[in-house]
Amino acid sequence: MENVEEVWAKIKEKLELRITSVSYSLWINPIKPLSMTDEELVLVAQSTSAKNQILRNFLDRILECFGELTEGKTIKITVLDPNEEIEYLEKNMKNTKEKEKTEEKSPFLEKFTFDNFVVGKSNQFVYAAARTVAEHPGERYNPLFIYGGVGLGKTHLLHAIGNYIHESYPTLKVEYATIRQFTNDYVNSLMSSSKTKSLLDFRGKYGNVDVLLVDDIQFISNKKETQEEFFHIFNDLIMNNKQVIICSDRPPKEIETLEERLRSRFVSGLIHDIQSPDIETRLAILRKKSQLEKYYAEEEVLNYIAERVDTNIRELEGKLREVYFLATLSGKKVATMEEARESFSNSEVVDTKETLTPEMIINTVCDYFNVSYKDIVGKKKTKEIVEPRMYAIYLIYDLLGLPLDNIGELFGGRDHTTIMHSRNKITEELKSNKKTKTIIDEIKNQFKND
Ligand code: ADP
Ligand code: MG
Repeated sequence: MENVEEVWAKIKEKLELRITSVSYSLWINPIKPLSMTDEELVLVAQSTSAKNQILRNFLDRILECFGELTEGKTIKITVLDPNEEIEYLEKNMKNTKEKEKTEEKSPFLEKFTFDNFVVGKSNQFVYAAARTVAEHPGERYNPLFIYGGVGLGKTHLLHAIGNYIHESYPTLKVEYATIRQFTNDYVNSLMSSSKTKSLLDFRGKYGNVDVLLVDDIQFISNKKETQEEFFHIFNDLIMNNKQVIICSDRPPKEIETLEERLRSRFVSGLIHDIQSPDIETRLAILRKKSQLEKYYAEEEVLNYIAERVDTNIRELEGKLREVYFLATLSGKKVATMEEARESFSNSEVVDTKETLTPEMIINTVCDYFNVSYKDIVGKKKTKEIVEPRMYAIYLIYDLLGLPLDNIGELFGGRDHTTIMHSRNKITEELKSNKKTKTIIDEIKNQFKND
């Protein structure tokens, strides 16, 4: 249908023929048509008394004319006085604003906000840095490089920054991608039939932003072209004071596939690590998750879990979920110690992790290969020693996830590249060599029997 002015003009023409010219000029002519939908026609009278006159004397005839114009359709007619008009407009503006907001919904995970992030000793500096860049994008630490073990909150923080900026600076363009997505996008653009255009689109997507969040940079491919492309985008952003935030599970110097020039760029900003949370923080996180996710559990249960799961927050959450789930199976709404105990009796992994130390691993490897502790951490390079040493290094990394530097210290101050080499060697062999897998399995079994 036409717009509200046109419809109202046609209704007026018809009305003019049916009412006195005095009534027409006094009541109908001053009416302002405001809006029309399929259900409702909204008109504004020049005063409250005019509104009442119109409703009392002319409403039926207006409806009649409308029906004639639309082959019998009916519509709700609302007449507002000038005050009501203002209210009406304000309400509508709010509605459209809300609509716009939901339309351009934040691409970031809703639950990963700063508010939902529990701050403790292990992450307070990272948290402060993340907040600072979110509040002053491009003005403070650039790039901000965050690293830390699996499940310690890196991705959560990236999304929190994204959510914060989306909310506080809606005009800024923020792009989030894991380095794998970035690489895929790049490779796809190269393979596209309209290569030039797709490459431009790719560069626009990542380069034409105010804030770039890159997750899991440790998976950067060692392909020269990808790193080259990343380097240029990264450099341009930094030079133009656009904020870049990067996450990794290890510090730049330990990312083997990273080119030197990127490494030195990363180091030129601010680098922070997230550590494993202490018991108070773990408990606080459990309380928060229990409340947010509605995994209800008795306080004693939260304590029990916090004491036992000390490596990674994802596991901490997982355990709470599991315990709650067990409770619901027996019809309970709140998890009790019964379920907590049950859940831990099923899993030995967490328990072994708790008691396992690097020294125990080294000792077990020594027993297995029948070599001495002193030799394995010493300088000898004979095959009989080198092999057990590699297994020990691999296992310490695999089971305890210690940083390479720390592992190096355990082995007589070896440098992290040596450690990395040993670890990678076993990782590679595990893929192809059955014997290696058997050895690893047998040693791991020793820990379970301890
Ligand atoms: P990462 O990216 O470091 O592997 P994530 O950011 O994915 O880890 O975090 C894993 C889980 O732990 C997520 O559900 C996240 O919400 C939660 N988490 C991590 N750190 C915290 C924290 N400080 N407060 C609350 N939840 C946290
Ligand atoms: Mg992550």
